[in-house]
Amino acid sequence: MDILTHDILIVGGGGAGLRAGIEISRVNPSLKTAVISKVYPMRSHTVAAEGGSAAVLKADDSHDLHAYDTIKGSDFLADQDAVEVFVRDATNEVRQIERWGCPWNREEDGTIAARWFGGMSRKRTLHAADKTGFHLLHALFQTSLKYDTLKRYDEWHVSALLVDNGKVGGVLALNTRTGVFSIIAAKAVILCTGGVGRMYAFTSNAGILTADGAAMTYRAGAPIKDMEFIQFHPSGLMRTGILITEASRGEGGYLFNKDGKRFMENYAPSKMELAPRDIVSRSIIEEILAGRGFQGTYGSYIHLDLRHLGEAKIMDKLPMVRELCLDFAGVDPVHEPIPIRPTMHYTMGGIHCDKDGKTPITGLYAAGEAGCVSIHGANRLGSNSLTELLVFGARAGRAAVEYVSTAKPASNDRLQSLAKERMDFIQKRYMKAGNGKEKIGAILTDLRKTMDEKVGIYRTEEGLKDGIQLIQRLKERFNKISLTQQSRVFNTELIQAMELDNMLEIAHVIALCAQVRKESRGGHARKDYPTRNDEQFLHHSLTYMSKDGPRRETLPVTITKWQPEERKY
Ligand SMILES: Cc1cc2nc3c(=O)[nH]c(=O)nc-3n(C[C@H](O)[C@H](O)[C@H](O)COP(=O)(O)OP(=O)(O)OC[C@H]3O[C@@H](n4cnc5c(N)ncnc54)[C@H](O)[C@@H]3O)c2cc1C
Repeated sequence: MDILTHDILIVGGGGAGLRAGIEISRVNPSLKTAVISKVYPMRSHTVAAEGGSAAVLKADDSHDLHAYDTIKGSDFLADQDAVEVFVRDATNEVRQIERWGCPWNREEDGTIAARWFGGMSRKRTLHAADKTGFHLLHALFQTSLKYDTLKRYDEWHVSALLVDNGKVGGVLALNTRTGVFSIIAAKAVILCTGGVGRMYAFTSNAGILTADGAAMTYRAGAPIKDMEFIQFHPSGLMRTGILITEASRGEGGYLFNKDGKRFMENYAPSKMELAPRDIVSRSIIEEILAGRGFQGTYGSYIHLDLRHLGEAKIMDKLPMVRELCLDFAGVDPVHEPIPIRPTMHYTMGGIHCDKDGKTPITGLYAAGEAGCVSIHGANRLGSNSLTELLVFGARAGRAAVEYVSTAKPASNDRLQSLAKERMDFIQKRYMKAGNGKEKIGAILTDLRKTMDEKVGIYRTEEGLKDGIQLIQRLKERFNKISLTQQSRVFNTELIQAMELDNMLEIAHVIALCAQVRKESRGGHARKDYPTRNDEQFLHHSLTYMSKDGPRRETLPVTITKWQPEERKY
């Protein structure tokens, strides 16, 4: 098998991956670095981010305030040392991205404009209208083009990490266009593979977010952290789940029930619509369950009303919201309220790593949504994620540069034999010529139904037990798949099979961790254990793969200055 050799390989061409790539090339331009991505980088999910990126720039703000808001938002599960690093580095990163071309909106006095976002006690969400992710990713992409030593493998699919004796030596990857697998050898690998959302049916996440990085790491023997914490965003457009950004509420939008009442006054009177996402999402579901939602063809919903903002403000600050509503719901928010309900949106957990992206596998780093440092704990505040990918993408890049300055590459023979093992597995598990009765589309549909119904916003012991059993049955059904496409070229069915296998593995971990955590904290809401229980559960969960199924351990939360307190808004 071909071996393509680099010093550092970044898996993922979204915000975190490109930021890491730029940092490596900037710090040591003599290193041979590569970014591999299953889609062209500008199609990574970062491009879809709308509302903005949080950082302290204003005179009435401080790093301590940003840190406290983030920690309170996290329901005190964030590691406070990591949050302190995050808020400090954030200020430089957002200034840096402006120099690389991100066209931040401006205040009247010419300084960078900030807007309100949920759970933030100051206006600190910097934005480029409601297309922040698009502009930020563009700025990173065009900057990355400056570096000749930064090679790209676009539309390649990484199938496995090649790990020998606890040390990464590269990856096995499929060139989608040719159907040929190659080894990409590297002394360090940085995983920036994004989230896991496509295992849910009603989600804001793009089709590529299929838990690949988490599953690869898990199979390679390292733990994944806090996977029970899934964020549901309050405003998914009815029918599709497409996101209507929180900036809509940040700019002054209201939520109404069918009685015309701004119901958030019953749930978070001091913050109203700008309470953190977990609280607003649950409030919407409570209204729907109490029969105060509107009824439509696709189920019950609530109204998000922007009409009072007026056309000029909507076109200035929220043009994409208007476009999305017109295109996907036939509703013009200038004249009509928007039908919404909570949509699965973000994974607080991910690959266990430290402030420099370092994982327990030597030479393996993680950053962006794929990683779990953890700064979001049990609930992420909106607009902290774009900043996170800048801060921790850069930090992982710098750490990898330092590591490879003394690290030795894996031997080619060893890589060949690891890759052969994985190829045999791929042949046996996915490519076997088929009389298997199961189809991947049907299994995926059932997985999504299970996750929506059993591992959704509200969880119960019974529902989670059911969910785990159903996922185990889906895993058994997966053993009986056969693919209809046997061609090597553009075999999207093979890719979907690998992705589904990854999602089944991680769905199992999510449901199991949710079952074990018998408390409610942030995005994890148990009907049967409605309160937070710091005595028993103020810890992270680490999950390892074992031959008897997922094996769990716990890890203390790092507290520096802010003692856990009741979370009230
Ligand atoms: C609709 C929407 C709006 C959002 N708005 C905001 C916002 O306003 N502010 C905010 O802070 N956050 C927002 N978020 C969250 C934020 O955008 C994401 O968390 C962040 O962009 C993730 O970036 P990333 O670089 O980690 O991953 P992504 O941008 O998702 O990139 C993942 C990359 O990994 C690659 N990849 C994955 N698996 C493989 C594989 N097996 N082989 C090769 N490549 C692979 C993909 O091709 C892709 O390039 C939003 C999220 C959504 C869904």
